[in-house]
Amino acid sequence: MIYLDHAATTPLATQAADAMARASALAWGNPSSVHAAGRTARAALEQARATLASVLNAGDARLVFTASASEANNLALKGTVLARRSTPTHLVVSAIEHESVLTTARYLAATLPHVMLTEVTPGTDGIVTRDAIAAALRPESALIALMHANNETGMIQPIEAVAELARERGIPLLCDAVQSFGKIPVDFTELGCDFLTLSAHKFHGPRGAGLLLARRGAAFDALVHGGLQEGGLRAGTENLPAIAGMAAAAELAVAQAAIEARHLMQLERQFLGQLDVAGQAYLLNGAPGPRLPGVINLSLPDLSQDDLIIGMDVAGFAISAGSACSSGVVEPSHVLEAMGLPDWRVRGSVRFSFGRGNTQDEIEAAARAFCELASRLEGALPSAAGGAG
Ligand code: PLP
Repeated sequence: MIYLDHAATTPLATQAADAMARASALAWGNPSSVHAAGRTARAALEQARATLASVLNAGDARLVFTASASEANNLALKGTVLARRSTPTHLVVSAIEHESVLTTARYLAATLPHVMLTEVTPGTDGIVTRDAIAAALRPESALIALMHANNETGMIQPIEAVAELARERGIPLLCDAVQSFGKIPVDFTELGCDFLTLSAHKFHGPRGAGLLLARRGAAFDALVHGGLQEGGLRAGTENLPAIAGMAAAAELAVAQAAIEARHLMQLERQFLGQLDVAGQAYLLNGAPGPRLPGVINLSLPDLSQDDLIIGMDVAGFAISAGSACSSGVVEPSHVLEAMGLPDWRVRGSVRFSFGRGNTQDEIEAAARAFCELASRLEGALPSAAGGAG
């Protein structure tokens, strides 16, 4: 199987696996214990925190380890709302956010009478502008959420401009950098946001490790109580092997980011070039505009994403719809819908996301298989057989 779904998850890097093995063997103590085994584990935990703070240029921000980016996004959103007690609270959330932001914001607005929500839609290019966010702000606005790059289209959002607006208006900004980290620079200080979230398994680290960076002074409450771990912001014994794996994967991702971006861009050019040469009709979703290298979301007229994904799977290639799957059924993408794309384009969309391990030969084979599959499916359409349209 050739894996072309790196925006969903990535294989574990050897360096991350080695760091996990070392932490399991040598730093197995409880970081909260006062004895030597605990102190060794504590040192390893703080070393991982320092590494991550350094690669993210976090300054004096607080770095809270979580079990996933979904948890980190929940912590920023719900934690902010909880810290405001019953003060009227307006959340301004982009309509293209990952479900862990969007669904959480909707849940808060639906269950708490003092919480209101505005979802800000992007243009047809998939970009949410500073002006669109500015137009949504109200005196009670208490948090803006705009992701760094979208997981379905790869479109990079104007975070610095929105951070400037947020600062001017005194409103904290949550930036989900899950997809961008390791592909484009993610510098907490330069981005200027108040909260930033990451997930280790998206950059060749392990599952079970995410993080929330929070600007010092940003007010948010814990969601899990019962221990003083993570400065009282997330009770529970830390998953040190996964955290050590995340730190090693992050160091590697940052060290290789420029080389990896070039590699991914080359694979992307090769893939689209091959489709063009084959005369394959397709529409790129999200372009033109700044996009993550190696993430391609395209629609084929008249074809269904289910047929394309299953057909590619049978041919030995893992691709996806980009949108969430529940019980094996692909849901229509809320991102492409928010971009105002027509229904046929939403239902005919698939995502290829290349990774550091992919080779030119693999991409060549994938493009060939995709074109063959598309012509087979197009040939089977009723209109192609001369049937009633
Ligand atoms: N945010 C974005 C943009 C994502 O793509 C994902 C995962 O797909 C998440 C958050 C959630 O990450 P995790 O799997 O760590 O919960």
